[in-house]
Amino acid sequence: MFRPNRRPYTLGMDVPTPTVRDASLATRLERLPGVGTARAEKLVKLGLVTVRDALMHFPREYRDFSGAHAFTDLREGEHASIAGEVIDAGTRTLYSGRTMLSVSLACGAGRVRAVWFNMPFMAKRFAKGMKVVIAGQPRLASGVWEFAHPEVRWLAASEQAHASDWLAVYPLAEGVQQSHVRLAVAAALDHAAGVCPEALPEEMLTAKGLLPIERAFREIHCPSSHAMIAAARRRFVYQELLMLQLALRMHRSRQQQAKAAPAIAVDARLDARIRARFPFQFTPAQQRVCGEIAADMGRAEPMNRLLQGDVGSGKTAIAVYAMLAAVGTRVSPDSPERFQAAIMAPTELLARQHHQTLSRLLAGSGVEVELLVGGQTAKQREAAIARIAAGTAGIVVGTQALVAGAAEFKHLGLVVIDEQHRFGVLQRAVLQQGQAEPHTLVMTATPIPRTIAHAVYGDLDVSVLDEPPPGRQPVATYRVGPDDLDRWWEFVRKKLAGGRRGYVVVPAVEESKRDLASISSAYESLANGPLEAFRLGLVHGRLKAKEKAAVMEDFRAGKLDVLVATSVIEVGIDVPEATIMTILDAESFGLAQLHQLRGRVARGATQGICGAVTSSQADPHPRVDAFVATTDGFQLAEKDLLLRGPGDLVGTKQSGMPPLYLADLLRDGTVVAEARRDALDLFQRDPDLADPALERLRKLILDRWGETLGLGKIG
Ligand code: ADP
Ligand code: MG
Repeated sequence: MFRPNRRPYTLGMDVPTPTVRDASLATRLERLPGVGTARAEKLVKLGLVTVRDALMHFPREYRDFSGAHAFTDLREGEHASIAGEVIDAGTRTLYSGRTMLSVSLACGAGRVRAVWFNMPFMAKRFAKGMKVVIAGQPRLASGVWEFAHPEVRWLAASEQAHASDWLAVYPLAEGVQQSHVRLAVAAALDHAAGVCPEALPEEMLTAKGLLPIERAFREIHCPSSHAMIAAARRRFVYQELLMLQLALRMHRSRQQQAKAAPAIAVDARLDARIRARFPFQFTPAQQRVCGEIAADMGRAEPMNRLLQGDVGSGKTAIAVYAMLAAVGTRVSPDSPERFQAAIMAPTELLARQHHQTLSRLLAGSGVEVELLVGGQTAKQREAAIARIAAGTAGIVVGTQALVAGAAEFKHLGLVVIDEQHRFGVLQRAVLQQGQAEPHTLVMTATPIPRTIAHAVYGDLDVSVLDEPPPGRQPVATYRVGPDDLDRWWEFVRKKLAGGRRGYVVVPAVEESKRDLASISSAYESLANGPLEAFRLGLVHGRLKAKEKAAVMEDFRAGKLDVLVATSVIEVGIDVPEATIMTILDAESFGLAQLHQLRGRVARGATQGICGAVTSSQADPHPRVDAFVATTDGFQLAEKDLLLRGPGDLVGTKQSGMPPLYLADLLRDGTVVAEARRDALDLFQRDPDLADPALERLRKLILDRWGETLGLGKIG
């Protein structure tokens, strides 16, 4: 939702050009007839100060007052609005002492009843023969459709219910009422009539069948029909996406103009040599993605590829493949030197794990794998950096900060960024050094729905690993309420005794001192309670990386049965023998996080088991219930997006997109595809957007994205 201190996102209205028309949209709301100072002050809480702000404050939803439902359409609990004539109204007192007003309506062939409790004053407002529309959720009460506390609209005697009655419902802030917002918006619409500047060329509006800006504003706030709501939304969504796509195109073309990348050709021999290194066959999905990457790297322009794959889908193998392609390729035909590759992980733990995997895989190959993490001595680090600069270190593994900050490469050919799960156009910290720009591969297990990926990463190519390695089974996931807890631990003990290893995850918000105390006490109570017969280890974010690594190693080697851990294990830890997980206080985790956690026990051939412990037995909990219901990461990501609003996922700051638009994207991916195509078209014809008809659009794009994407002045 819009917050007052956030720079509101504006469409078509944002550029302070000194024309009378725009000045008019800058008019402060208190100056509009009927708004007044007191109301205007309240509206500031919603960030609404000017006419422009009010126009851009889009409804959250609409209430159907069309009376469009027929008696026979009514369904238990489903919102409906129905028109009828009052045939009877009466108030009586119930046993409980409450009063009940009951109004009977004749609605075509049938009858419905509307009831209000303890609102006797309502009775005056109904008289026999009045025509009304009521809206609400009906329920069948002893054979009669009953609406409890419906909304009512009284129709004039001559008036028919008609399809235009869709009432906008706005996001609110404390102390601000719907009626305040509706009034301000209506006044703003009147004020702006005839002076709204249009950003899209006439020709485009016609060709694409988009509503002109003024009509779009009117229809989004006061729809003349249900169909027009969709038409108005489409116009706004389309414009926003077109602008973003154009901005991303400009950004990308600048990058590509600026620097060339080394062409790293993967021929059949190199491909075979690389694959022979792996102890397994690539899945068809992995083969396809490797092919996409090889094609990119073979070109002399920098690869910009996002690899999405659910937890455990085998992204590491892809990264290794790409890195080996780089280190297997000579810098030039007559030079003995080869390209280098770097992989950056979000945590030290993960970097060390990658280092281990790579070292094992490359033993005896002559490729040097260098580690660059926080726990090293200054001397170790200096030596590593020297080898990187000299080009003898073929593959460099490290945390993002260190690799990006400390190292200069001799011939960097490829950068892999692993487990990137904070999104935003700026998150791709590319290592740009020397004349050539390396190829970049970003990997993520937070599956963003494809439509969103395209919208936000218009300049990235996307590969998807949509098939797990063979033999994987979905993790059996249970919700464990307080009444089930004893039985659950009993079950866990049996599985552990049978030779499984497992995790118990405890929440920790910031791994602060207080969290630490609660983690320790959780550990104590497990070690002295349900799990006392087993060997327990503890890892959390406050441990030194070396200590963490040592505990992990013991767990990996089977010297520990159970790892009690905070979400430090969330990302990427790979211990195939660990197959049972208990998540304590599951309500306190986000949906994506829960899914990541569960991924830890989906690594081997044995089916993983996961218990999500909740503090209530059966109260509905949207996140936990969704988590238990499916193991499909993409489905969960969409669900998550709907539950949280996409602001979180995309990083509201970076994207600046109001929830309405992205929520729509989920429902309607076709607009994304359309905007993407049109942007490409437009850009190819007119890369500087020099056409005078595009002037306003170009200004808007620069104003909106220029700084974020470093577009500077164009044309
Ligand atoms: P993620 O995508 O979560 O990073 P990993 O790359 O860590 O997943 O892979 C998960 C596990 O699957 C690892 O143990 C890896 O060795 C194994 N694996 C990956 N690809 C295959 C394959 N094609 N066949 C068998 N096992 C595979
Ligand atoms: Mg991984």
